[in-house]
Amino acid sequence: MSYDPQNIFAKILRGEIPSHKVYEDADTLAFMDVMPQVDGHVLVIPKAPSRGLLDADPAVLARAITVVQKVAAAASKAFAADGFQIRQYNEPAGGQTVFHLHFHVLPMHAGQGLRPHSGKMADHAVLARHAEMIRQAL
Ligand code: AMP
Repeated sequence: MSYDPQNIFAKILRGEIPSHKVYEDADTLAFMDVMPQVDGHVLVIPKAPSRGLLDADPAVLARAITVVQKVAAAASKAFAADGFQIRQYNEPAGGQTVFHLHFHVLPMHAGQGLRPHSGKMADHAVLARHAEMIRQAL
């Protein structure tokens, strides 16, 4: 399967649709997931187009995972988390719904479950506040 430049994350990268940004550099963007599975659920995406993990340039992956580490630390601090999960889905059979490579960063508390994947849209004011909390913790 090939990369479709009309996917929603490509539109976010081009500024065609809004997002609640947490972090941005020349190669990578991090923003709030609009259907958060936990409070503080962030998506980290490389700017270079790839559909999933396997068609990404290893150098791009190296830069993206460095930002994943940075964002995981900040989200954990901002939400006083006990731990965190990094999730990354590939192809529909692997649970992927948006076909631009992304890493989910999920700050976790002991005994906490996850809300459904691609579940309920969060309030934008809440997402904006959570993004600000994570930016402050970077
Ligand atoms: P995946 O199943 O790994 O492809 O996950 C895609 C994620 O993107 C889901 O968690 C969705 O909630 C999230 N998502 C979909 N559209 C948007 C959007 N416009 N802005 C932020 N997150 C989105």
